[in-house]
Amino acid sequence: MSKIQMKTPLVEMDGDEMTRVVWKQIKDIVILPFVDLKTEYFDLGLPNRDATGDQVTIDSANRTKELGVAVKCATITPNAQRMTEYNLHKMWKSPNGTIRAMLDGTVFRAPILVKGIDPFVTCWKKPITIARHAYGDVYRNSELRVDGPATAELVVNYPDGRTEKKTIFEFDGPGIIQGMHNTDKSIAAFARSCFMYAIDIKQSLWFATKDTISKTYDHRFKDIFQEIYDAEFKSKFEELGIEYFYTLIDDAVARIMRSEGGIVWACKNYDGDVMSDMLASACGSLAMMTSVLVSPDGVYEYEAAHGTVTRHYYKYLKGEATSTNPMATLFAWTGALRKRAELDELPELADFADRLEKASIDTIESGTITGDLKNLIDVPQKNVVNTEDFLKAIAARL
Ligand code: NAP
Ligand code: MG
Repeated sequence: MSKIQMKTPLVEMDGDEMTRVVWKQIKDIVILPFVDLKTEYFDLGLPNRDATGDQVTIDSANRTKELGVAVKCATITPNAQRMTEYNLHKMWKSPNGTIRAMLDGTVFRAPILVKGIDPFVTCWKKPITIARHAYGDVYRNSELRVDGPATAELVVNYPDGRTEKKTIFEFDGPGIIQGMHNTDKSIAAFARSCFMYAIDIKQSLWFATKDTISKTYDHRFKDIFQEIYDAEFKSKFEELGIEYFYTLIDDAVARIMRSEGGIVWACKNYDGDVMSDMLASACGSLAMMTSVLVSPDGVYEYEAAHGTVTRHYYKYLKGEATSTNPMATLFAWTGALRKRAELDELPELADFADRLEKASIDTIESGTITGDLKNLIDVPQKNVVNTEDFLKAIAARL
């Protein structure tokens, strides 16, 4: 059998622990036998990030900007315990954070739906994709406790000496205050990533804020989305028969619970934080959740939503059998290959990505599963296997 050819390489960002093991298994078992795989390899495993002073993360993000599509393995974000475990020179920043900042991107997350693992919300028939604005608001706030009667003010000092002031509250006793910000630039990048992604997967985009209460702050989000939609994306949306729909956040939540899914739901930072946990738990598990970072200029980085599955890795190191679910990481690969196929006009490669996803879903629906799905899935017969055998079952179907 001749292998499927590629043109432009993918940026391949390797990672840590159990997912690093699974990464290689996926390549060896379900990709390399079928595709003449082209990648530019960057080792984002913690030892190499430490050895390169984290330069490898920056290099991989820069190369992603040039080539357009990356696939990333889960990586450790160091904490105090990792400092000793890996004898690190420094507590390196989260690679995801570094890459996201460099690409100015938005993260889109959606569950992988299979028959037998039905969402708790029974009307959800198609995946709901959540796009979380990953900048500002309460995550970059300044907070103060007020310890007695006081006047709290908002003050803005411009470089030309102009000053704007507004009273927040006249305290007659102790209390709390908080200042938050966002920037037009970040909101616009968020909006563009959302419109582009909705066009990409041909689904309607919903966006919601609380602009009836927050008449300046949240209203600015609403206005920027609308201006960008009208100027840059409206005709493409109409052509595809999809819609951009703005509503209030509480109305959006109510509508989502009654919808059949198949929507991209753009959320402000806090809403996205809360709602993505709701979506993940309503749909089963993080191991069945895909994640892609999309930059406003059309650069894509595909990854899994879960971490490096440390607990499984420690068992694996002791030689114990592990059954780590490779689906989210596998879908990162298929997502990246399909996007590469689209950009390079390689229908065979796109078809391969589709067939690989279908083979993996069929494998689960037939009852051959990894351990994490054992108590989640409802199928007549369950055959719990290790990661390697699960991937071999997929390859056999392919
Ligand atoms: P985690 O790796 O997502 O794992 C938490 C638990 O969820 C696992 O112990 C396992 O449960 C279950 N799980 C997650 N993925 C699974 C899979 N594919 N198959 C089967 N079970 C799965 O989260 P964590 O343990 O909090 O974090 C571990 C490391 O990952 C940390 O160093 C963190 O910095 C990093 N991290 C990286 C990313 C990223 O790069 N995108 C994201 C999050 C965390 P059981 O043990 O009960 O089987
Ligand atoms: Mg959260």
